[in-house]
Amino acid sequence: MIPARGHEGARVAVLGLGRSGLAAARALKAGGAEVIAWDDGAAARAGAEAEGFALADLTRGAAWDGVTLLVTSPGIPHLYPAPHPAIAAAIAAGVPVDNDIGLFFRALGGAEWERFDTPPRVIAVTGSNGKSTVSALIHHILQAAGKESQLGGNIGRGVFDLAAPGDGGVIVLELSSYQTELARALTPDIAVFTNLTPDHLDRHGGMGGYFAAKARLFTQGGPDRAVIGVDELEGRMLANVLAEGRGDDRVIRISAGQKLAQSGWAVFARKGHLAEWRGGRQIASIDLRPVKGLPGAHNHQNACAAYAATRALGLSPRLIEGAFETFEGLPHRSQLVAEAGGVAFVNDSKATNIASAAQALQAFEKVRWIVGGQMKEGGLEALSAHFPRVVKAYVIGRHAPETALMLGGLAHDVSGTMADAVARAAADAEPGDTVLLAPAGASFDQYDDFEARGADFIAEVRRVLGTGAG
Ligand code: ADP
Repeated sequence: MIPARGHEGARVAVLGLGRSGLAAARALKAGGAEVIAWDDGAAARAGAEAEGFALADLTRGAAWDGVTLLVTSPGIPHLYPAPHPAIAAAIAAGVPVDNDIGLFFRALGGAEWERFDTPPRVIAVTGSNGKSTVSALIHHILQAAGKESQLGGNIGRGVFDLAAPGDGGVIVLELSSYQTELARALTPDIAVFTNLTPDHLDRHGGMGGYFAAKARLFTQGGPDRAVIGVDELEGRMLANVLAEGRGDDRVIRISAGQKLAQSGWAVFARKGHLAEWRGGRQIASIDLRPVKGLPGAHNHQNACAAYAATRALGLSPRLIEGAFETFEGLPHRSQLVAEAGGVAFVNDSKATNIASAAQALQAFEKVRWIVGGQMKEGGLEALSAHFPRVVKAYVIGRHAPETALMLGGLAHDVSGTMADAVARAAADAEPGDTVLLAPAGASFDQYDDFEARGADFIAEVRRVLGTGAG
């Protein structure tokens, strides 16, 4: 564990005692702070108390006497739609608010880093979609290169569950907009912005706030290299703000579709080929079409982002290409679950918003589409351009009949449950079809999380195909 520095002898409040909150509390204690803790849930409070943390009801003004800092968790609203009462109380008392990510960046470095030949580096990845895939792919490439790499943040382990990095070690962090919005320190060596499409707008007061939350990763810390997806206006603007001029190669622009030969340093994918351009000429290319773990244009964008970040660390194109070939992809993201009788079954339970569902639909032909869940603002209208690829939709979710109305004239069954949807889709499917779970909504109406929804899809596919639990 890395102790949280800079709070020796100070009284620090921790709100939210889930995994990351507890890890932050332990790191603060290890760094010499006096921790007081709170969570709305009695079970979480009891867990912290059993570990020896003092509890204090932070929603009461009196709790803030002598407190120097509040550390909060990403799931707890701090501004929109309304601040949690404990955060409102901290702000009213003039107490600064931070999160584990801010504490973590402040904890890095220090005297013991002086002895390293190559100081450890941090690569931080943000964006609306592809963060997990890009982070996992960077980690995979680094491991293939024989480098010490740890993966954490919003994926894998919380930052304070990571080990202290060694000489030349790399920490790869996936950071959500909730995390970047609040962290008081954000100082990655390399920062990656994949793309931007609407998501979580209620928590950020709209698109402007959502973009600003992500842009902080670049504007606060001033990374040595910024890898920026420029397929949307916001990414182009961010790259423009960060670069001193056209030839500035501290900014690496990436795209899935556009040729970017004009910029100082660029990596783009077109028609399945990745190309790296620097100083006005092409210096490397990779054929992505045979790479099984990265199907579809969206994954080619992810490949560009991971390629750029690892090139910025000095790895060679050939080494990165070799690592692409052994990348198996992440569960619940375009995950090929089974193939039977010429029909593919693909689990993209992580397609919880419109943009990710669009990418999933685009990656396959003749789709039998399992869709539905807790739908977000705007409905399914924005997906209609992809409807010609859909042979039939099978609508799940607690509000399946209402969701079905969003499909317009698209052929569909109202299934309600995953079991029904998979059974019908499998019975209807013909060779060449893909049965695709790409819900375009959150899972919480029927499941604890998207992982549980994906696991249910896999179980139903296995049941229907008679392949059991194996
Ligand atoms: P995140 O961590 O940002 O949520 P993931 O890698 O977990 O990203 O992917 C989330 C969803 O978005 C999945 O449905 C996946 O298929 C889709 N997706 C992955 N990469 C991209 C991308 N570059 N653009 C759009 N959608 C993507």
